Amino acid sequence: MRSGISVSEGQSIVLDATPPLGSETVATRDALGRVLTETICAERTLPPADNSAMDGFALRYRDTEGASAETPVRLRVVSHVPAGATSEREIGSGEAARILTGAPIPPGADCVIRQEDTEAADESVEIRVEGSEHQNIRPAGEDVRAGEKVLAPGTRLEPPHLGFLASIGRSFVAVHQRPRVAILSGGDELVEPDGDPRGGRIVSSNSYSLAAQCRALGAEPVYLGIARDDPADLERCLRSGLRADVLVSSAGVSVGDHDYVRPVLEKLGCRLEFWGVEMKPGYPIAFGRFPAGDGPLVFGLPGNPVSAMVTFEQFVRPALRKLMGHASYFRPLLEVTLGEPMFKKAGRLHFVRVRLQRHGTQVTAHTAGNQSSGALRSMVEAQGLLVFPAEATELREGDRATVQLLDEGFLQSEESGV
Ligand code: AMP
Ligand code: MG
Repeated sequence: MRSGISVSEGQSIVLDATPPLGSETVATRDALGRVLTETICAERTLPPADNSAMDGFALRYRDTEGASAETPVRLRVVSHVPAGATSEREIGSGEAARILTGAPIPPGADCVIRQEDTEAADESVEIRVEGSEHQNIRPAGEDVRAGEKVLAPGTRLEPPHLGFLASIGRSFVAVHQRPRVAILSGGDELVEPDGDPRGGRIVSSNSYSLAAQCRALGAEPVYLGIARDDPADLERCLRSGLRADVLVSSAGVSVGDHDYVRPVLEKLGCRLEFWGVEMKPGYPIAFGRFPAGDGPLVFGLPGNPVSAMVTFEQFVRPALRKLMGHASYFRPLLEVTLGEPMFKKAGRLHFVRVRLQRHGTQVTAHTAGNQSSGALRSMVEAQGLLVFPAEATELREGDRATVQLLDEGFLQSEESGV
């Protein structure tokens, strides 16, 4: 087991040990955010036939030569094509078909004149403008041709993808499975939020934030409860998570007298790959796996609420994204200007909780309150984690730095842009 490694070494170890999950078939309706495992070929041509882009009259454009409001052309209406119907009646010279948007163009017609430029009578219509060839006709196959490869494995399904899949007749698709993440907390001091916090007890908030971090990226959290600081109870609790894809335990992985997570995991057959990453908050993080591949990826996160969330961000989230089949594993990075100086000792990389301010295209970062690893409030305030590199000791006001963007809501706008 390695110890005292850098954040990027830890991330490489985790990602190397993480294979994408297998495939499952889901209803396209429920596939938002999922990642395709199959190549999608169009099974049909879209639109299937030349069709009208307007409500109006289908006709031969040559018949409209010289037509104007003053000198309209009168044509005989010989058929009616509502949407969803077809008409085989050929349109000859001097004839027109009443047609609605989306309806197939009847044979013989080569132009649609929109209704607003016509005056319909009982069995005839006055055309008041000149038409041109193919006007207001959407050609067959303008969107997709049958047999064409349209989506590749690895594609993340967004709202337009779901509509598109439906339009080519795919109501089910094959996607990567969603990881199930077993979450447990450990510590004799912990109570659930409705429990009695007197006598030095602490509410177990980590199971709330960690489960929500899973949900936010589309993984499925399963809560295993609170394990007591007792090897037998911890073993019972950890065992119940061995069928999950990922097991996340918070607290009890430090060097304290009651930190049993590491020995109990090893007893269960988990091989620890590393413990201790040169970062703050969050040094005491452990990562392990079952060498035979018969158990979950295991993350022993620190107990302090901010450390738990920040280590989840750096190690668990990328792993979950890889399991889900995504091609990129990390948060969007933003280049920012420091709005204030920052200092630290050399050695550990610090993730500084920051608030961001936009001035045109520039973004300024300010510390988001108390940086204690127990102060969850500053995590609430923060929009990103500023990377204060391991060996650096000082960042001056005006220096450039990189921020991992946690809150993409920061990019939302008060203006519509139109
Ligand atoms: P430990 O890693 O057990 O030394 O815990 C470090 C700190 O995190 C202690 O103050 C714990 O009370 C606190 N802590 C541990 N687990 C949780 C949890 N599930 N929710 C909130 N705080 C926790
Ligand atoms: Mg503890």
